[in-house]
Formats: sequence, structure tokens, C-alpha cells
Amino acid sequence: MNALLATPIAYLKGVGPQKAQTLQEELGIYTFQDLLFHYPYRYQDRSSFHDIALIRAEDQYVQLKGRLTHISEIGTGRHKKLQARFTDGSGSIDLVWFQGFQWIKGNLNVQDEFIVFGKPKFFQNSWNIPHPELLKVVPGLERKGFEAFYPSTEKCQHKGLHSKGLSKLIGNLFEQLANQIPETLPAAICTELNLLPRIKALREIHQPSSEILIKAARYRLKWEELFFLQLELLLRKGIQSKKLKGYALNEVGAAFNDFYQNHLPFELTNAQKRVLKEIRKDLGAGSHMNRLLQGDVGSGKTLVALLSLLLVIGNNLQGALMAPTEILATQHFIGISELLEKMDICVALLTGSTKKAERAKIHEGLLNGDIQLLIGTHALLEDTVQFKNLGLVVIDEQHRFGVAQRAKMWRKNSIPPHVLIMTATPIPRTLAMTFYGDLDVSVIDELPPGRKPIHTIHRRENHRDKLFAFILEQLQLGRQAYVVYPLIQESEKLDFKNLEDGYAQIEDFFKPQGFQISMVHGKMKPADKEAAMQAFVQGQTHLMVATTVIEVGVNVPNASVMVIESAERFGLSQLHQLRGRVGRGAEKSYCILMTGDGISKEAQKRMDTMVGSNDGFVLAEVDLQLRGPGDLMGTQQSGALALKIADLAKDGQLVQLAREKARDILDTDPQLIDPNHALLNQALREVLKNKPNWGRIS
Ligand code: ADP
Ligand code: MG
Repeated sequence: MNALLATPIAYLKGVGPQKAQTLQEELGIYTFQDLLFHYPYRYQDRSSFHDIALIRAEDQYVQLKGRLTHISEIGTGRHKKLQARFTDGSGSIDLVWFQGFQWIKGNLNVQDEFIVFGKPKFFQNSWNIPHPELLKVVPGLERKGFEAFYPSTEKCQHKGLHSKGLSKLIGNLFEQLANQIPETLPAAICTELNLLPRIKALREIHQPSSEILIKAARYRLKWEELFFLQLELLLRKGIQSKKLKGYALNEVGAAFNDFYQNHLPFELTNAQKRVLKEIRKDLGAGSHMNRLLQGDVGSGKTLVALLSLLLVIGNNLQGALMAPTEILATQHFIGISELLEKMDICVALLTGSTKKAERAKIHEGLLNGDIQLLIGTHALLEDTVQFKNLGLVVIDEQHRFGVAQRAKMWRKNSIPPHVLIMTATPIPRTLAMTFYGDLDVSVIDELPPGRKPIHTIHRRENHRDKLFAFILEQLQLGRQAYVVYPLIQESEKLDFKNLEDGYAQIEDFFKPQGFQISMVHGKMKPADKEAAMQAFVQGQTHLMVATTVIEVGVNVPNASVMVIESAERFGLSQLHQLRGRVGRGAEKSYCILMTGDGISKEAQKRMDTMVGSNDGFVLAEVDLQLRGPGDLMGTQQSGALALKIADLAKDGQLVQLAREKARDILDTDPQLIDPNHALLNQALREVLKNKPNWGRIS
């Protein structure tokens, strides 16, 4: 860092050791630079005023300029208040204080001129402003322009480090810095994007001269923040693909061609075709593929995975498909074996419950290359599982696997196999670009034709009778239904009781009607869980009462009803995942969100969003707006989002733009060694120095 900017904050005029300690502890401000980056959260235009006569109910805050005409204390005891009549020529209004007004009273004199700022209230037929902010107008020293409001804390306020105090320190800071604030962006970019010079942006953000310049300053600083973030991510990725060579698949191969021409069960959607093209291009490029495939529930990711695997197999390499649960792996194995039935391709299934003798045979088949495609669970990761020449690993539902596990697959070959990660939890593009900066992203944004949208309904507890009657009706038509309860660790005991009570209630109602019920929850032994799931999958039971263990990918096309209990406690993406368990067959399907009566506004918005949309990407965007990126990606990752001014939820377009620019620059100068980029290179190193390594979180 520039030596001056790195100066400890105690050395700033007006700070000293005590305030320095408070600034550090309360606001994380250690250096001049930290204070420079402590941005205001709002501004008040001190040069424009409302007319008292024109105050309207929709005015949230008003700023007035005028004189006091009367000051009086009225009422007695607890009802005592201070009231000051204030006029601006257009009309009059009462300023009122209910507490702590002795001190205020001492500072008010009739005929004094003030600027008043506050929230007008309509009370007993006239407007008043309770507890306004007052600023005495001193002739000749009138404030002009904007006042900046800074985030502060209670402890800071006790030390005089309230918004105004901080504002004063910033003034001192600019004096002491005396224009020594270096530019970080090449002139070409500033010109092209019409960005304010850095020093001007920093001045305007703290001491703005107009609304337009506030906007321009914010834009420049956001842009810079996002641009360096993308530069960092792309640089990391560049280094990755340079180091890692990958198998170059030179031909399409017989396996792919035969399947595509003779055994494809349906025409691919355009989105599937496009994504497949992206994958083929990667596989032919000679470097290592590390690609994230996003697609809503039911968008047909499996078929894309299979076609990719066939490309690899046709080039005499092996493929692997890994799923997070045994049920899911088994379903993939059965489905894919059926699709490949007429072809001569050797597929094997390996899970935790594969018998020892069978396992030994599989190990051998993998080593000598007889097995061309291995499907399984985490069991694939074990060290004893070795391949002859593994060309591609597909990982389904990636959020259940960590980086360490991905890396383990890479090491199964001297040349790392290509990696395709599939997820049904759509992540808004801006987040994907940031969090999976080291992955390329493909998106299937289209569902196969003929899908009936799932009818989603929000119901409250007093409709339970009707709910049961509706489920009964569906079961009598031969369908199956899920009833899902939340179960989270913090309230495990209570949740568990809800689940058991719910089960008992359902049993009482449906058993006498001749329907069977499965229950599945995380506390069961894996074998029992498996058995209960299988009973439902095979139609021996009609109702599945479960906690969210069913979230991941089970496929029961006959199930047409999904009831989600205490739905207000689930996030949008989880609700959408659960809903995706139905609507897989020919019948019209229903998702019923059950909640209590008094749910929060935010929860209500989630319910309304679910009722209003079946599109996972729409939901993901709303989720991002409601919860913010930190929550969405999990708390351990939110530290990475310590952005000072940009907001991944709101500045999506800027993220995109920053990414494109960063890419353009790295395309021509991958190491940033061009003398024109010296500034950038240096600035980037500054940024990285102050940051933990989080580029490879996925
Ligand atoms: P997901 O993306 O959730 O993994 P799947 O791959 O399980 O989705 O596909 C969901 C269903 O859609 C499957 O039954 C599959 O056979 C079917 N499907 C996939 N692609 C198409 C297509 N292009 N046209 C019609 N149906 C398709
Ligand atoms: Mg799937």
C-alpha cells in the first residue's frame, strides 16, 4: 500500500490513541485507507428545502428552513413535553420533544433561524415533527450541498465518533493526504467507461457536490471493486488451465454417434443441444474441463451427462457418474442401463452396499478397462477404486460434495479427468460468476416440452381437514403423496415431535382408508431408510412422511402431491427442490405449502413467489434479493463477500461488465506484464494482500 495510506489511524489529526482504539474495535478502521473506504450510507441535500404548507402524508422526511416563533413546555408529569412553533413563511408547524428536552430548551431562542430535519406526523388535525434534528443557521457559515451519513456504533457515539464526528475526520484525512491517492485503473478503461478518476470519486463519495456526482462516484468505486474481484478469479483460473492439461478428445466416436442416431429416446431441447456443444468444445480443447452445469429440476441434465460420457467412452476412455445417495445412484444405474440396453457398453454400479466379491470384480474391471462406465456414490472416491484411464467424472447435485472430494477424483489419473458438475439449485449468474469463478458455467434454461406446471397453493392450519380430503382424493385416483417436515439441528427435539405427531395424525386418517405410509428421517439406520424409500418408490406405500432427506433427486413419477409443513421455515431454493419431486409423470401435480397464521412479511413473500413461479432461476433471483448473497451461499462463504460498496444482489449487470473487461485484458496479456498494465498489476497485488484466499470455494 502507498505508505501514506498505510499510516495507522492514530496519527490522523483529531484521533489519538483512545479514539484509534475505538475505531479499530468498533469499525475495523486501522489505517488511513480503512477510513477512506468507510463510505456513507446516505446523504442529505442541505441546500433544498420543503415548504411547510406543502407537507404531505407521503413525505417520509422533510427538511425545512425557518424561524422559531414560540417555545413552551406543556402538560405535567409524564405527559410533559416541549413544543416549539416553527415557521418558514409558507406556514407553521410544531416541533415536539417528549424526553430529554431540558438541554434542548436551553439552546432554543425565539427568532433563531434553524434548518430542521425530521419525519412529519399528523396528529390532532395538524402536522408536527417529533424529535427533529436541528441545525442552527449561522449567517456567513451556511452549509451548502450534501451531508454524508456514516455507519457508526453506540460506543463510537460516546467517543464523539458519530456520523458528524466521522465526517470531520474524513475532512482532516483529505487535508493530510493532500491529493496523494493513486489511480488504479488504466486511462483507457476510465475513458471508455466514462469513469471518474479515483481521487475524484473518493472525494465525491465523502463530500459530494451534486447528486449526479454521487452516482458517478458510486459507479466508479463499485466498478473498481468488482473488476479487481473478477480479475483475481480469472487469473486464478488461467493459472489452472495452464497447469492442467487434459485429454483432448479428437473424435465424436462410435458410442456417441450410435446412441444419438439410434437410441435417443426424444429430441433434445435446444438448451440441451447448446450445452452439449459447450461441453464438446471443452473436451476437444486439450486442456482440463472444469464445468458447472446448472439446470432446473427436471430439465434433463442426466441425458446431457450421458451423452458427454459417451463421447469419452467412444474415445476409449472410461467415465464415472457420482451421485450423493444410494437411491439416486441406483436410479441412475437402472435408467442409464435401460437407455444403453441395445448398445455394447459395460456399465457397473458401486455403492456402500456392494458386496465384497462384486466389489473385487468391479475393481478388476476398472483396472483392466473392461468397465467403461462406473456409476455410484461416495464409494467411488475410495483409494482402492482405480481406473485404467478415467476420462470424465460427472458429479450430480454438486452441493453435497466439497472441493476436497472433487480434487480426489482428479488424482485418479496422471492426466486429471475432465469434470462436469451438475446442480439443480440454480445460482443467479452473478453469484455463479463470483463463487465459481474457477468453473465455466453452462445453463439449461428450458424444460422438455409438454411439462405441466405444478399447481402451487398456500394454505393455513385451519384448512387441514380440506387438505386431508384432497390428499385422499388423489390417493383414491391411484397417485402417491409426500408430506415433508422441517428438521433442523437447533430445534431438533421439537421438530422431531412435530414429525411424529404429524405421522400419527396421518396414520389415523389414512390407514383406515386402506393406504400405507412410509416414514423417513435422518435418524434412521441407512438400511431402514433405504427400505422405506424403496417401498414408496415401488408403490407399496402411498404416502411418504419425511424430513428433507428426500430432497435429493428421487424419482417417483406417480407421486402427484407434495405437502410441505411449516413451509415458512424453508428457504426458496429448498422449497423449489422439494416441489420438483412431483410433476414428473403424466398427471397434474400439486404442491401445498402449509404455514401458521402469523408468518413474517418475508416468509409471506417467499410463499407468494412459490405460488407465482415455477422457474428456479426466478426464485433464485428473489432469494438473492431477500436473503443476500452471504446467506444464500452459506455462512462460511460469506466472508468472501466483504464487498465495501458493490452488492452482488443488485449490481448484476456491473458484475457481468467487470467480468468481460477483465477477460478482455487477460486475453491480450494473461500475466499482466504489459507496461500499460503496470498500474493494474500493482493495484491487484494490493487488493490480494488484504484478502484471504477464497477463489476455490466451490
Ligand atoms: P434433472 O435435470 O432434474 O436431473 P432428469 O435428467 O432426471 O432431470 O430429466 C427429467 C425427465 O425428463 C426424465 O424423465 C427424462 O427422461 C426427461 N427428459 C430429459 N430430456 C428430455 C427431452 N429432451 N425431451 C423430453 N423428455 C426429456
Ligand atoms: Mg437429476
